[in-house]
Amino acid sequence: MATKRDYYEVLGVEKNASQDDIKKAYRKLAMQYHPDRNKSPDAEEKFKEMSEAYAILSDQNKRQQYDQFGHAGIDMRYSQEDIFRGAAPDIEDILRDFGLGGLGGFGRGRGGSIFDIFFGGEGRREGPRRGSDLLYELAINLEDTAFGKTIDLEVPRAETCDVCGGSGAKPGTSPRTCPTCHGSGQVSRTQSTPFGRFMTTTTCGTCRGRGEIIDTPCPECHGGGLVQKKRKIEVKIPPGVDTGSRLRVPGEGEAGEKGGPPGDLYVEIHIRPHPVFTREDSNLMMEATVSFTQAALGDEIVVPTLDGKISMKIPPGTQNAQVFRLRGKGIPGLHMPGKGDQLVRIKVAVPTKLNEKQKQLLREFAEVSGEKRSKGIFEKVKERI
Ligand SMILES: [Zn+2]
Ligand SMILES: [Zn+2]
Repeated sequence: MATKRDYYEVLGVEKNASQDDIKKAYRKLAMQYHPDRNKSPDAEEKFKEMSEAYAILSDQNKRQQYDQFGHAGIDMRYSQEDIFRGAAPDIEDILRDFGLGGLGGFGRGRGGSIFDIFFGGEGRREGPRRGSDLLYELAINLEDTAFGKTIDLEVPRAETCDVCGGSGAKPGTSPRTCPTCHGSGQVSRTQSTPFGRFMTTTTCGTCRGRGEIIDTPCPECHGGGLVQKKRKIEVKIPPGVDTGSRLRVPGEGEAGEKGGPPGDLYVEIHIRPHPVFTREDSNLMMEATVSFTQAALGDEIVVPTLDGKISMKIPPGTQNAQVFRLRGKGIPGLHMPGKGDQLVRIKVAVPTKLNEKQKQLLREFAEVSGEKRSKGIFEKVKERI
C-alpha cells in the first residue's frame, strides 16, 4: 500500500480548518463515496480513508497528536478500533442524515454499525469468518489424572476443502459477486405505508445471503468450501484435572470460512469411577478391611496406591472407621504444587463363622478380660417384646 495521505488533504481542508468545516467536508465526501451509493471498486477504501481522517480531526486530542507528530503519532498510540470508537456515533449520525445510516441500510453489515464495515462485524458477509469451537468429551482413568497423559483424539470437524482452497468454486473457476445484492448478502426494501416509510432488510434470495454466486461448484465440497474430516489431535492431559475440567486446544476447532481463523477445541474431562479409590479434590479415599485381631494387636498391611502396592503399619488398638493418612499419595494439584494424600479408612471385620476352638479361645479371652458374659441377654430382650 502507498504511504498514508495527509488527513487534511484527504478531506480537502486547510490545516486551520474549524470543526464545522471538517464536518462539512466529511459530509460532502461521504455522500459521494459511501459504498452503498458508489459502486466503483475503490469506493470502500476511499470511504474508509476519509472516515479515518474525520475520526482523527474531529477529536480534539487526536487532532493535536496528529498535528504534532503526524501519522506516526496516531499509529503508535491508537489502534484502528480506538480511532473509530469515539467517532462512530458522530459518523453514524451524519450518515443517517442522508439516509445511509441506521437499520441495515449502512454498508454491508446486517447490524448496520460503522464497525461492521471497518472491522467485519458479525453480519458482514464478505469478511473471513472464524470457525466454530468444538467440544469433545473425554473419559479418562483416575491414573491419568494422577500422572498426566498424552492422548490422541479422533476429532470429526470441518476443514478447509483442499480441492478448491475453501472458495467453493471448481478449480479454474471463481465465484462471482451476486448481482442482486452486490455482495452484501442482504437486500433492503423501502415500503410506503399509510403510517410512513419503512425499510426492511432481508437475506438475498439470489445468493441465499452468501453475497456471491458459484456457477460451477467444487466437486469435493459441493460449493461449501469446507469438508468434514476426522483428524487425529494430540492432547496433553495435565496432572490434576478433574471431572468437568476443560482443556483448550487453540486453533484445533472447525476451519474458518473465507480464510478466517479456525475455532478452538475444548476437551471436557470425565473421570471414570475407580474400583478402589474415590477422589475428593486432591485426596484419594479407600477402605481397607482388617481382621479384629489385626486391629487389636496391630499389624503391617499391604494397600494399593496409584503407583503400586505399599505396606502400611496399623498400630495396636486400631478402631473401626479409623482413618490413616499416606502423605503425598494422592492427586497433584492442578494449580498448585504438591500432591494430595491417600486416606485409608479401616474396616474391622468381625468373623461370622467360628469353629469350636476359636469360640473356646474367645470365651477365655473374654473371661480374662473380665467381661461378664451376658448369657441370657437375648432371651431377656425377647421376653420384653
Ligand atoms: Zn471444495
Ligand atoms: Zn445476493
